[in-house]
Amino acid sequence: MFGTLASGRSTLTHLECSNCGATYPHDRLATTCPACGKVLLARYDLAAAKETMTPAALRERPWNLWRYTEILPVQDVAAAPSLGEGGTPLHEAPALARDFGFDRLLIKDEGLNPTGSFKARGLAMAVARAKELGARTVAIPSAGNAAAAMAAYAARAGLGAVVAMPADTPAVMTAECRAYGATVLLVDGLIDDCGKVVRAGAAAYGWFDASTLREPYRAEGKKTMGLELAEQLGWRLPAVIIYPTGGGTGIVGMWKAFAELEAMGLIGRERPKMVVVQAAGCAPIARAFAAGEDHAERWAGAVTVAPGIRVPAAIADYLILDAVRASGGTALTVTDDDLRQGMVLAAEREGLFVSPESGAAVIAARALRQSGVLRQDDETVVFSTGSGLMHTDLVDGASAAIDPNAPDLAAAIGAALPPR
Ligand SMILES: *Cc1c(COP(=O)(O)O)cnc(C)c1O
Ligand SMILES: [Zn+2]
Repeated sequence: MFGTLASGRSTLTHLECSNCGATYPHDRLATTCPACGKVLLARYDLAAAKETMTPAALRERPWNLWRYTEILPVQDVAAAPSLGEGGTPLHEAPALARDFGFDRLLIKDEGLNPTGSFKARGLAMAVARAKELGARTVAIPSAGNAAAAMAAYAARAGLGAVVAMPADTPAVMTAECRAYGATVLLVDGLIDDCGKVVRAGAAAYGWFDASTLREPYRAEGKKTMGLELAEQLGWRLPAVIIYPTGGGTGIVGMWKAFAELEAMGLIGRERPKMVVVQAAGCAPIARAFAAGEDHAERWAGAVTVAPGIRVPAAIADYLILDAVRASGGTALTVTDDDLRQGMVLAAEREGLFVSPESGAAVIAARALRQSGVLRQDDETVVFSTGSGLMHTDLVDGASAAIDPNAPDLAAAIGAALPPR
């Protein structure tokens, strides 16, 4: 199906180290930079990509993330394991805009991706590439969403899957991974401890390690959030992007996407302010941002109900901080009570049942407006990175029991209704 499309072909040329600039071929499995241990990024022939990835050509392609073939690393898109990833809606949020004091507030609803979060984008790409390059088993440390996504795509691609998750990961998430046939390792520790387990297993058993930004292709999948956003706004960018940040592939990927779009002449030099939101109980990037540092120290004793942002240390800390500063953005923290309120507001005011991480981004929009950091006319896009359906334990309140045989059924119902 994709092979017949307006001659979209990957223009991937090589991998480049984001730190020391060393370059490497892309035709073999890669992890971090062999010279310095930092993050490798995929590079493309953007002059060639520009010839075929035009707005007109894109209009003819299916609305999913594979439409940006020219600047994706997968060589044979038709063979990639696909479950319908990407192509998520960009909703107007008029009620929240009014409540918070924005002229326009938008929510990009990543919860509609397969397995319920934007992690599907990165792992569709990483698993497709790993398979193309000969991996047999893929492995990942994850707080839950990345594990589910990797396990699903590994099943789809016919690869083995090993996931290492903190022992306190919600049972619904470990069960989902087992359903896809993954081996689930429960680790007594946090996500960086899970990373240690995966690296040891990869060394001993030949697994391919798909940890955030420890291989170059997950970021390429995540960058499609930025590509879609630009296309959905008619090839321009908003004034502000608010993103709940853990490992940082979302921020790093979108920032890379904008540079590529500019090089291809699809957008200009303008950039949104990139806003990192973290939990008050785990905020290494926000702390480093406030202190003016280039790297973020590990956060000791990380606690938050939002598992996707319970990330005490990020290998791409320097790339996240660069993007936030270069964009004129900021980094802030919200408490768990506040992020739960953000979940309630998105659900009650806009009909969007979002994940706790997304609740953090919603409430951050309000906080930044209240403090005057953002202006009323700052067109702001909040990323809802995942669905709330895995987190029903965070929803308060009780349902009313009704006896259908009550003598006065109307009165029984009336007693259950909220006061008017
Ligand atoms: C992983 C995750 C995040 C953090 O995203 P990064 O790109 O790793 O910073 C945010 N929200 C949800 C729902 C996640 O699963
Ligand atoms: Zn390097």
